[in-house]
Amino acid sequence: MPNYLIDRLRAGVTVPSRVFAETAEGAIVTYAELDRRTAQYANALVAMGLAPGDRVALQAEKSLEAVFVYLATVRAGGVFLPLNTAYTPPEIDYFLGDAEPAIFICDPAAEAVLAPIACARGVAQVVTMDANGQGTLREAAEACRPSFTDVPRRPDDLAALLYTSGTTGRSKGAMLTHENLASNAQALVEAWHFTPDDVLIHALPIFHTHGLFVAINVTLAAGSSMIFLPKFDPAYILSLTGRASVLMGVPTFYVRLLKSPELTPEAAAGMRLFISGSAPLLAETHREWRARTGHAILERYGMTETGMNTSNPYEGERIAGTVGFPLPGVELRVVSPESGEVLGTGEIGMIELRGPNIFKGYWHMPEKTAAEFHDGWFVTGDLGLVGPDGYVQIVGRGKDLVISGGYNVYPKEVETEIDALPGVIESAVIGLLHPDFGEGVTAVVIARPDAALDEPAVLEALGGRLARYKLPKRVIFLDDLPRNTMGKVQKNLLREQYKGLYGGTGRAT
Ligand code: ATP
Ligand code: MG
Repeated sequence: MPNYLIDRLRAGVTVPSRVFAETAEGAIVTYAELDRRTAQYANALVAMGLAPGDRVALQAEKSLEAVFVYLATVRAGGVFLPLNTAYTPPEIDYFLGDAEPAIFICDPAAEAVLAPIACARGVAQVVTMDANGQGTLREAAEACRPSFTDVPRRPDDLAALLYTSGTTGRSKGAMLTHENLASNAQALVEAWHFTPDDVLIHALPIFHTHGLFVAINVTLAAGSSMIFLPKFDPAYILSLTGRASVLMGVPTFYVRLLKSPELTPEAAAGMRLFISGSAPLLAETHREWRARTGHAILERYGMTETGMNTSNPYEGERIAGTVGFPLPGVELRVVSPESGEVLGTGEIGMIELRGPNIFKGYWHMPEKTAAEFHDGWFVTGDLGLVGPDGYVQIVGRGKDLVISGGYNVYPKEVETEIDALPGVIESAVIGLLHPDFGEGVTAVVIARPDAALDEPAVLEALGGRLARYKLPKRVIFLDDLPRNTMGKVQKNLLREQYKGLYGGTGRAT
């Protein structure tokens, strides 16, 4: 029996001398080298006692060595568990307690604090890895043989335990199988026309499904190459566009690139594809990007629990404000949250999904898992609709829906109107406990410094454009919206900060 995911990813590699990754410093790793390095790490992990099904947790700065550890863990039959580099020691304590890994890899600078925490949580081995991949794990790996017989794994076995971003509450551990990851990589290679000639600019973090499974698994499944960067640096990225072909980014990447004078049609000419996801891309960003570069950004929709679900077409129109069509093998339907009935074209409801990409459940949360499945379909928590032309639109998260005076107010609709006002950079609309309306629609607005905008001006401008019940009760001006590392607006922080605005103490729902 083969190791299902590794075998499927290997199938894309036909020329071992081809470059898998190149770093900003010019270090090059070929596919043959990748095979040797991951074999060494797999041997090291097994020597440390890793048994099939054991978790390997890693909290380390982005490096190619960390990518080797991911693949080595899977080769050794383990379950890879990457942890956000921003997590604090108490958070690490929680995740180690929840996931019970056999091995924990942390930065040498954090070892003195984290090793005792890991030991208290029963982790058998604590090893280190710094931003250059150096540390005790690499030393152990370098002493190991560069060949390894992959541990057999079935499609249904776990390959990764990936915690959700924690945008709506405490992060949940999503159990992802070999089949989940392999099928999604294959679907994306097809949908985005990846070939061995592609060179991806990789500037995303690798503790999230986007930077880890989309970017790296797609590269492997296509046998293509990537330029692997420690962080997002607009000027540096624009210096690479002559050598690269694809950029995978979050909306804030594109907003920041648009601020660079170096972004010209010539700079973008050699690229074949710009992809965005993880958070909604503003229609204005889509429009400006097209005007500046001649390229239409391809927006896709995914989540930790499912990998990627939908994508705008490679050939065919990429429509701003939509996330395109379900990927090959993925089924999507929209269901009424009230009646549970499947809704028709254009009707807003809960997005549900089915397919080989859907995770096996939440780690240690059988009841939560059961509650998030509806007749075998995964209930995403996202509200949306399917338009007459089949394009899917995300309207917002179910948890962000504002119910004011008994009416449903979809924040995105109000945000779109506010964002279109002159002088507005962006906005976030939230619901806050209100003594008369249940929840009061509240707008948080980021305006240009030179804009002469105040609360009455915003309300007056919206007056003729939105029904009365959708109008914000209050408008708050801020310099910036709180965002997490993937660029997602943290509305829960805004709700917490302004919870007493109308005299209440929290959310109505
Ligand atoms: P948590 O589940 O812990 O609250 P999270 O949902 O933000 O956090 P992720 O799995 O990283 O964690 O994010 C998935 C969510 O991101 C989706 O459910 C959706 O709300 C949002 N999302 C992803 N891509 C898009 C997109 N193109 N447009 C709009 N929203 C998107
Ligand atoms: Mg989620």
